[in-house]
Amino acid sequence: AGAIRFENVRFRYEAGREILKGISFEVPPGKSVAIVGPSGAGKSTLSRLLFRFYDLESGRITIDGQDIARVTQSSLRAAIGIVPQDTVLFNDTLEYNIRYGRMEASEAELRQAAERAQIGRFIELLPEGFATRVGERGLKLSGGEKQRVAIARTLLKGPSILVLDEATSALDTHTEQEIQSALDEAARERTTLTIAHRLSTIVAADEILVLKAGEIVERGSHAGLLEAGGL
Ligand code: ADP
Ligand code: ADP
Repeated sequence: AGAIRFENVRFRYEAGREILKGISFEVPPGKSVAIVGPSGAGKSTLSRLLFRFYDLESGRITIDGQDIARVTQSSLRAAIGIVPQDTVLFNDTLEYNIRYGRMEASEAELRQAAERAQIGRFIELLPEGFATRVGERGLKLSGGEKQRVAIARTLLKGPSILVLDEATSALDTHTEQEIQSALDEAARERTTLTIAHRLSTIVAADEILVLKAGEIVERGSHAGLLEAGGL
């Protein structure tokens, strides 16, 4: 489940210029598609449209064949989990932050989510002794550590679609590489839309679309695009 389809999507903010100029692509269930492009290309706009923040000028977006214009925003939010660029954590325990919005989650669910998010693996990357500190308040986390919490929090929701919206853009290259395996694991066998401005972060995508000035100007595999020297 979780097939995403954009069909000739056109969009402009208010009466401004056209931001998306007839975008078509699909993410088959369980597959992973990445959208790469320079700042201002329309990537964030595209992800906001998936959450139905705005109405389309023309075209259609469907999830599992259903036009999202006919779906409530709350059910869209239940179906789609997003890992944003800047994760805001509460000044509380790590466990609270992972459970946030899911305080009714049982220990078993939390453990499952941890496995799905490979918390075991990402905790290993944290400072020595961190694994025993999930219940401790006021821990100072680095950017990469925060993103690992964000991944776990999102997966606990059990979404069929995962949106990684510049999830590693705020991190330095080293930290980005550190959490890449957690992201790849999260994306595995889950319909995933990755948004990024660098090709380097999206090796695992089944297909990559290059968005420039509201148009898909290239599509292909990571290796193919590197060869073409696109980005
Ligand atoms: P990207 O995510 O690729 O950097 P965006 O989708 O943020 O691109 O922006 C695409 C274009 O839409 C830019 O020219 C930007 O200035 C414009 N834009 C983004 N958000 C708004 C908004 N709320 N109102 C008007 N124009 C916007
Ligand atoms: P629910 O409580 O319905 O399960 P969430 O509260 O987990 O859903 O919703 C997903 C989270 O992602 C929310 O915090 C929401 O504000 C945030 N979000 C939704 N759409 C976007 C978006 N396009 N960009 C950034 N954050 C978003």
